[in-house]
Amino acid sequence: MSSTDSLDSPAVALVHGRKVPTGLYIDGTWRPTGATFTVADPAEGTAVAEVADATGEHALEALDAATRAQEDWGAWAPRARAELFHTAHQLLQDRAEDFAAVMTAESGKPLAESRAEFGLSIGFFRWYAEQIGHLHGTYAHGSPGGYRIVATHQPVGPCLLITPWNFPLLMSARKAGAALAAGCTAVMKSAQETPLTGALFVQTLHDAGFPPGVVNLLHTTTSAAISDAVLGDARLRKVSFTGSTGVGSHLLGKAANNIVNASMELGGDGPFIVLDDADVDLAVEQAVVCKFRNAGQACVAANRIILHEAIAEEFTEKFVAQVRKLRVGNGFSDGVDVGPIISERQRDRVGELVAAFRQQGGEILAGGEPVDGPGYFFEPTVVRMDTRDHTLCGEELFAPLATLYTVGSVRQAIEFANDTHYGLAAYVFTRDLNRAVAVSEKLDFGMVGVNRGIMADPAAPFGGVKSSGLGREGGHDGIYEFLEPKYLALTIDETEAIGV
Ligand code: NAD
Repeated sequence: MSSTDSLDSPAVALVHGRKVPTGLYIDGTWRPTGATFTVADPAEGTAVAEVADATGEHALEALDAATRAQEDWGAWAPRARAELFHTAHQLLQDRAEDFAAVMTAESGKPLAESRAEFGLSIGFFRWYAEQIGHLHGTYAHGSPGGYRIVATHQPVGPCLLITPWNFPLLMSARKAGAALAAGCTAVMKSAQETPLTGALFVQTLHDAGFPPGVVNLLHTTTSAAISDAVLGDARLRKVSFTGSTGVGSHLLGKAANNIVNASMELGGDGPFIVLDDADVDLAVEQAVVCKFRNAGQACVAANRIILHEAIAEEFTEKFVAQVRKLRVGNGFSDGVDVGPIISERQRDRVGELVAAFRQQGGEILAGGEPVDGPGYFFEPTVVRMDTRDHTLCGEELFAPLATLYTVGSVRQAIEFANDTHYGLAAYVFTRDLNRAVAVSEKLDFGMVGVNRGIMADPAAPFGGVKSSGLGREGGHDGIYEFLEPKYLALTIDETEAIGV
């Protein structure tokens, strides 16, 4: 029996034997709408569920509920809020396999990757739960004397949290964890491709006892109608967005009208640098994971693999051999390493990029073709880039497509790595600590993995610079994205209080 069998939502879908609510979650109840849209399984091209399609009016109802709940939720005692988080964490843990199955069904990622995402997601949730009891202020004497400075924090207020499809639970848990722990209420908007994971997440918070209105969930085919309505309402005080740089920039423009606090986790163009003294076997192993995890659809994926000429041939030979061994298929099948691309449109985009590269005489070392059959698969592909004058260079590939570049020096590697408007994650492989530190410091990126291709951690500040975003998620800073400093100037007359 699945742990979600007891759901009392009026409308549920059965997804791989798991009941998932299909309505919108507003003010503590699930509700259908007049219209629905289809959630597709990218591995089969078939329908998984029909879910309610929200309009701008629903978004304002959700904001009404979040606004009503804000004062009470923000005043909850830290211990009580933390206890509720711990209850939710345990319930999430009990549903681990439900989440993994639902994520694989709607995003296509291999079950092992869904399980790994689940582990990281609840790690973030627990991290924020632990922070609730550790939010301290400061106390100081006023500069001229006669008063005291008491500085503390208060919740920003109702938030809009917008998440993408590529890590549906991680993005939901990372954002909602921080916002709710800080005492904010939230209107969440999940991606059209993956609304079911968010629904299961919110249902679990409901079951844990989060009060009505504290968290609300919308999914829609008309995202702009939701953001226009909510960002156009001055009661909203914060938008936290993860997605493409274009949409992030658009939302920042909207947020400017009401001077709404904004955090942005946007696109990446990750350089993966392998220097001449690197452990090549380690670099190959990490590059395969960093590039092909989630079929390359990760903001922190290795977008440009930059090889020092001294190890370029050895790396290329070993990397291509490993990539050829990757098994492509339905994420529910045993031994599958690479699942489908999220949609037919995205799969075709990758096909066009590779076809254009081939037409220009580009060298394809592995893969290069879409895979026949149902679903939207593309062969794990490796290409050698002799020029940077191609659309494959400078674009966020977001696909199982590795591009290999060769450089002649450490300085050239750094210059090429920084030659992008993005600045999310970079990687450097070297055995020399001196070089590791010096090169990392020169890379204009928010995060640098040294001799590792995976670095997400609840205890670390995740985020980018330049066009990759504003603000950080996780680490000590993450919760402060949802808190405002509050300063009390406290008059103290010592003579009157104590006497002379
Ligand atoms: P996207 O920008 O198209 O969509 C992201 C989310 O925004 C979805 O929920 C979508 O429905 C919504 N959206 C789109 N237009 C909107 C609008 N006008 N108003 C409100 N919401 C709107 O991105 P995507 O294709 O789903 O995701 C891939 C992108 O996300 C990549 O660029 C990737 O690098 C980025 N990403 C970044 C991070 C990070 O932490 N920096 C993490 C994951 C993904």
